[in-house]
Amino acid sequence: MNDKENIPGIHNWCDRWCEKCPFIARCAVGEHELEIIEQEQKGFNPDFWEDINQQFTKSIELLDELAKDKGIDLKGISDEEWQNIDKDNRKQQLDAESHPISRMANQYAKECERIVNLDFIENLYDSEEKKIDLGLEGNVYKNISKFKETIDVIRWYMFFIPAKCNRLMMENMDTEFEDSEFPPEERSYNGTAKITLISIERSIAAWGFLLQLLPDMQDTILSELALLQKLHRSIRNEFPDAMRFIRPGFDD
Ligand code: SF4
Repeated sequence: MNDKENIPGIHNWCDRWCEKCPFIARCAVGEHELEIIEQEQKGFNPDFWEDINQQFTKSIELLDELAKDKGIDLKGISDEEWQNIDKDNRKQQLDAESHPISRMANQYAKECERIVNLDFIENLYDSEEKKIDLGLEGNVYKNISKFKETIDVIRWYMFFIPAKCNRLMMENMDTEFEDSEFPPEERSYNGTAKITLISIERSIAAWGFLLQLLPDMQDTILSELALLQKLHRSIRNEFPDAMRFIRPGFDD
């Protein structure tokens, strides 16, 4: 495979932060993101909604292909069958959401959102941005960048973590899932568990930085760190082979 070729399946077990991804030019999803980023850098993208429409068409094509590969005839499913599939999916979704891992992740997202939206954090974030605009340099600049990056990391993962935890619990409940045919390090749910664990670790690192930058918030930050650690431990216990999963591109 040369450097320019896309890596098949890489987007299935990543953190979807395409802007920061080293493989953006070698990923089917990233390629499209890259076009949007390049357009945005040039200014307003008048084709934004057209791009979304095209992406919708591409997604439907992808879905058709996937269904074909799995021998499913999407057009051959009756209304009654669709209703049953819908009912099963809803039940599975509710079961997944009520699992302690999902509940813990949702609790984290709620608390986290409240904290990062606190007026003084937002004001600090905005004022720090203004200082960057003023062209400050040296240590001041370093602290400013660190604060901004830290908040960006926390914000990026705060909803990603519960979304992945829900998906993880759904994958784990799917008894018909073909994963049982594969060794643990190739099972899809272990890939989901791995990227969830990595996201939690990055969030823990970010809260640790924030603790150094805002020591007055010690109690609040420690409570988020404790919650994340508990979530991390629960996922490790439930999916002991998670870190053995080889994510295409990132781990091979
Ligand atoms: S692999 Fe990278 S570029 Fe592709 S979807 Fe994931 S984060 Fe985005």
